[in-house]
Amino acid sequence: MLTAGGLFLGNTSCTNAPKANAVDEASAAKPSKRLGLQIYSLQKELYDDLPNRLKEVKAMGYETLELAGYNAGKIGGVDMMEFKKMVADSGLKITSSHVNPPVREYTKENRSQIMEYWKKTADDHAKLGVKYLIQPGQPSTRSVEEVAYVCEIFNEAGKIVKATGIPFGYHNHEMEFAKVVPGGTESKFGRRVREGEVIYDLFLKQTDPALVFFEMDVYWTVMGQNDPVEYMQKHKDRIKVLHIKDRAVLGQSGMMNFEMIFKQMYANGIADYFVELEKMPDGRTQFEGVKGCADYLLNASFVK
Ligand code: MG
Repeated sequence: MLTAGGLFLGNTSCTNAPKANAVDEASAAKPSKRLGLQIYSLQKELYDDLPNRLKEVKAMGYETLELAGYNAGKIGGVDMMEFKKMVADSGLKITSSHVNPPVREYTKENRSQIMEYWKKTADDHAKLGVKYLIQPGQPSTRSVEEVAYVCEIFNEAGKIVKATGIPFGYHNHEMEFAKVVPGGTESKFGRRVREGEVIYDLFLKQTDPALVFFEMDVYWTVMGQNDPVEYMQKHKDRIKVLHIKDRAVLGQSGMMNFEMIFKQMYANGIADYFVELEKMPDGRTQFEGVKGCADYLLNASFVK
């Protein structure tokens, strides 16, 4: 069936179309697609005129946001409750937030510091009203023992965050697909490394499913020489949210099979995903890149 959204979208390349069409296009596309955006994608451009920049994001067709840049009650230096109000005024919704504890190496000595961080951060995010609180940074994991300790910390963090009514998740990059050995001094990456266990697999095994879920970044999983679809099939109960990402603008690199990824995402009943974009490599602005990602998903027949 040809929807109104499809008709408008078919016209996006028409250069003499009236400007008002952009808004019509977004509202026409809204009922069928629920796009999420990780705000890191916009870099500093988001903050040059935050209220209007948020409205632009909404007009592109995005509905939900995953925050980045939380620090002591502020988001990117803006008071978090003011930030929340501006998001609400734009018609967007804050669904998730990326936060990292202040230390990268987890030890017995800094354990209480990490837990104090989670308590304060979870309380603040309960006020923001997020659906998920997610750690995107990989702690130091050079050996099987270090991975086991990190999982213990994840479980405890999960318990603290859960007490505020929010599930705690972990987001990967590529180095979680490196391998570690007992008593090791470094993780080793690459398909020729035969010895050891994959850190991500140990995270899945050693964290409590009731306390820790996984937000799989599909691009970083591919960069980690693994198949995100296979992981989603094997770990339906653990991978609850996705980062939809490509080398730059979605669908342009030839590296990512988004059709298979979305098919599996729907089969697993995953409701939320967030588009992510690193610094644009070709001189275009982050806003142009993020718009390109939205257009790709709005035009893709496999995205519901
Ligand atoms: Mg990501």
